[in-house]
Amino acid sequence: MTATTEYPGNLFVVAAPSGTGKSSLVKALLELDSHVHPSISHTTRAPRGQEKHGREYFFTSEPEFDAMIASNAFVEWAVVHGNRYGTSKNSIEERIAQGNDIILEIDFQGALQIKQAFANAVLIFILPPSWAELRSRLERRGEDSPEVIERRLANAATEMAQVHKFDFVIINELFERALFDLKAIAHAQRLKYAAQRRARSETFKALNVA
Ligand code: GDP
Ligand code: ADP
Ligand code: 5GP
Repeated sequence: MTATTEYPGNLFVVAAPSGTGKSSLVKALLELDSHVHPSISHTTRAPRGQEKHGREYFFTSEPEFDAMIASNAFVEWAVVHGNRYGTSKNSIEERIAQGNDIILEIDFQGALQIKQAFANAVLIFILPPSWAELRSRLERRGEDSPEVIERRLANAATEMAQVHKFDFVIINELFERALFDLKAIAHAQRLKYAAQRRARSETFKALNVA
């Protein structure tokens, strides 16, 4: 694997502070766009309410996670809010080599590691419209205890300070507008020369252009 390998599939990486709406936006994109597939991460955190092993995450014990690090199974991994999360090599490379678009919903540390491994990865950062709205979304979601919410808000400032390292920025104020922006980014990647040359080779040939 080199940083410059051109794969036919796109690798979209979405990062945002917890509560910004990234899971909702990615879920909505996956429902609308059948060419995009999720990467399922491994995590050492416990499953929440309805979460199922192999659907939201592969829930992994600390020793299993250690073993995966030792066997070089991860493209990236990071400690986020006190738990470890990682993207396995299996979940990415073969799939983009086959021409699938993959979307990763991971933290900024992981996103920057992915860019090192895959130079063509498209890094998208989602910002909340304000601090007050971020807090209120975390509270409304009702998944986390007050202490966990405070920890996530404290981490959000450090996370947002990384926004300048990303290729695209979406502000999730109106959900439908933010979803439109995310779709536009995915669509634009497919209009790039190399992608069009592959997807529309017959047209290129008929027009006698290279
Ligand atoms: P959420 O923030 O409410 O979506 O809570 P989660 O527990 O699902 O995720 C916590 C953080 O871990 C989020 O910032 C995720 O983006 C990040 N995360 C999830 N999967 C991965 C991964 O595979 N690698 C890395 N580096 N971060 C991840
Ligand atoms: P994340 O994955 O970034 O932690 P979620 O997708 O779980 O965030 O969203 C956090 C909460 O905010 C959810 O309850 C979600 O329904 C809500 N939400 C997402 N986008 C918006 C928006 N544009 N306006 C209002 N609420 C939103
Ligand atoms: P979730 O369970 O991830 O919070 O959201 C479930 C679904 O609700 C998502 O697929 C998304 O389409 C939708 N959704 C979440 N928040 C909003 C919002 O603020 N506005 C709109 N229009 N839809 C939302």
